[in-house]
Amino acid sequence: MDEIFEQLLNLSARTQTLIAVYDSHDRLQYANSAFRSVYFIEPDESPLWPDLMRRNFELRRGTVIQTSNFDEWLRSTQSRRGKIGYRAFETDLHDGRWFWMTEAVQTNGWMLCIASEITSLRARGRIVRQDRDQAIKASYTDGLTGVANRRFVMARVDDMLAAAQHGSNGCLVVFDIDNFKHINDRLGHQAGDVVLRDFAHRIHQNVRRNDCFGRVGGEEFVLVMPSTGPEDAIAMVECMLTVIRFSRPLPESPDFSYTCSAGIAACAPSDSASDLYRRADQALYAAKLSGRDRVRAA
Ligand code: GH3
Ligand code: MG
Ligand code: MG
Repeated sequence: MDEIFEQLLNLSARTQTLIAVYDSHDRLQYANSAFRSVYFIEPDESPLWPDLMRRNFELRRGTVIQTSNFDEWLRSTQSRRGKIGYRAFETDLHDGRWFWMTEAVQTNGWMLCIASEITSLRARGRIVRQDRDQAIKASYTDGLTGVANRRFVMARVDDMLAAAQHGSNGCLVVFDIDNFKHINDRLGHQAGDVVLRDFAHRIHQNVRRNDCFGRVGGEEFVLVMPSTGPEDAIAMVECMLTVIRFSRPLPESPDFSYTCSAGIAACAPSDSASDLYRRADQALYAAKLSGRDRVRAA
């Protein structure tokens, strides 16, 4: 076994194929020399994926990212990155080369990326395929906040329930901002939108890569936490509510703060998505009734 492992590493060092492994925090834990050279990574470096992308974006090298707002691009991409067992897509580099990139994710969050050069293959129709990929991305993104939308999150709920049928655990969290109508009435709808974006961005920053966070309606958001028991889910959500409590999103009203409530339900093997959602909603209702700004589990 050790010999196979050693041979695999030697071969990986020589191949033109790009190979990389990221851990569940999206830190690069292994990359062969082909990968390092394409993305300008030093031999002893193990950057976080968002930092690597930002650095290359600023220096106009590595992946071509067509956006005028890198943070917006990052949020929307991270909202979908590493949430599905396997995905594959075409990607282009500033030097003009094209790669076919595949991402395989384990349930523990580690991700294997393998990419092969396809510059001379299937060049016709590439623009059409890129437009199609853009349209798919837009159909999974919430326009106001840039995080995943209801369609994408509910598909992840279905994935989590499929795993629950085979004994995996998992939790669904429903968030609802407290007294949001009052915020709109007092400060205006635009300030309300700023609060919604602030909430989405702050929670997004605290979400693990394997979890999926999205906006499902007005001021209601959902967090899908596969392979997670209720105690861990409660602890993580408590931290998120604290982050929100300390946020001051309106520069023109520096004292303004807001809170949110959360309901958590753990997957049962026989649950349908609506069973699970109903229990999380009931827990949310209990959190509201008992005073808001808190989390309750079903
Ligand atoms: P509770 O603490 O019980 O949740 O009270 P609430 O006022 O937050 O509850 P409710 O669900 O009655 O109010 C939600 C409000 O959210 C009503 C609606 O006007 C507002 N809303 C929904 N979508 C948007 C949006 O996109 N932007 C803004 N600014 N407001 C929105
Ligand atoms: Mg509501
Ligand atoms: Mg509300």
